[in-house]
Amino acid sequence: MTRGKKQETRNKNQGARDRVRNECFTFAHLKLENLSTCILAIESSCDETSASVCVDGKILSNFIANQTVHEQYGGVVPELASRAHMQNIVPVVDAALSNAFPQPPTPNPQLQTPNPKLQTPNSKLQTIDAIAFTQAPGLIGSLLVGAQFAKSLALALNKPLIAVHHMQAHVLANLIGDNKPAFPFLCLTVSGGHTQIVLARSPLDLEVIGETIDDAAGEAFDKSAKLLGLPYPGGPLIDKHAKDGNPLTFKFAEPQIPELNFSFSGLKTSVLYFLKKQEPGFIEKNLDDLCASIQYTIINILLKKLKKAVQQTGVKNICIAGGVSANNGLRKGLQEMGEKHGWKTFIPPFEYCTDNAAMIAITAYYKYLAGEFSSLEVGPSARAEW
Ligand code: ADP
Ligand code: MG
Repeated sequence: MTRGKKQETRNKNQGARDRVRNECFTFAHLKLENLSTCILAIESSCDETSASVCVDGKILSNFIANQTVHEQYGGVVPELASRAHMQNIVPVVDAALSNAFPQPPTPNPQLQTPNPKLQTPNSKLQTIDAIAFTQAPGLIGSLLVGAQFAKSLALALNKPLIAVHHMQAHVLANLIGDNKPAFPFLCLTVSGGHTQIVLARSPLDLEVIGETIDDAAGEAFDKSAKLLGLPYPGGPLIDKHAKDGNPLTFKFAEPQIPELNFSFSGLKTSVLYFLKKQEPGFIEKNLDDLCASIQYTIINILLKKLKKAVQQTGVKNICIAGGVSANNGLRKGLQEMGEKHGWKTFIPPFEYCTDNAAMIAITAYYKYLAGEFSSLEVGPSARAEW
């Protein structure tokens, strides 16, 4: 590696560390004297490295380091994601702990530490009762970084380990904060890799009652955006342009799929063939209307199935989760539909919609209460049923 290249890498690493600090979310600190259950959670399933500290179900800190390295490739490059997780994981965990415990807590004299060196300077770690991590699903290299880190920490500190399913965590993100849904509730989870309707009977009794048979809703946004020449990830850009467009200008395919399942691959094909027929310069001239029409079609597909799920289950507490739940059109559409049909709707704050460790922490908290711990032999898995 040349000296110039080394300096460039060093700058990039510093950039990652700076981003970690800039993208922190800190929360009102709780009184630490009466700590009962304190969980450190790690999320690394895709291209966000995140760590969170949660005490008795309240989130004290949630740090997220995004990876900008993928932008130039039009999608997440797994190997680059794993490398970035390796660079980010220590500063992210450190930042989450420092923010949760600005002052080192008074050490508990009764605590047995296998390795006394861990008490200084990392005495904050002694406050942790369990270490949680995203076990599945996700990119295997990315998951491995978080899993190995969590397992090593659990082993060194002699603390229990809690393996968390990423999709269950997206649903339980709705239990963070004071405005939570009562059980049972339905959750429409819409992310870059998944689209599901989940019936939640209790925190750990979740059933998938509908899901996509091909592309996820986030993929439909991102692939359509790519056809329009927008950079990755295109979902937020479609959302932005859609605000100034007319959603009824263009009509795209809405597939008829049985039961509560979804399909989005036909939409992408319909956008592709429609654009192929147009004159040069058509996209630039009609970008806002194209974005509004594509967004309208995706939201229609989602909300129609959600309405069907309410009719089938009789459950009227409705939540959304996952990165696409940040979409303004979907949020507005859900709210309007809720008002029309008498649903109680819940939308988590933005920082809990996309991948984050706070949702892993809240899920781990309920698993802790239920005594659902994992052995150190547990490994990550790219795919996982639940
Ligand atoms: P995953 O866990 O599958 O990687 P995330 O939950 O992190 O997915 O969500 C990322 C997805 O959310 C991407 O497909 C992105 O385009 C989409 N997304 C984020 N914000 C918006 C938005 N405002 N409108 C539409 N899609 C969005
Ligand atoms: Mg996700």
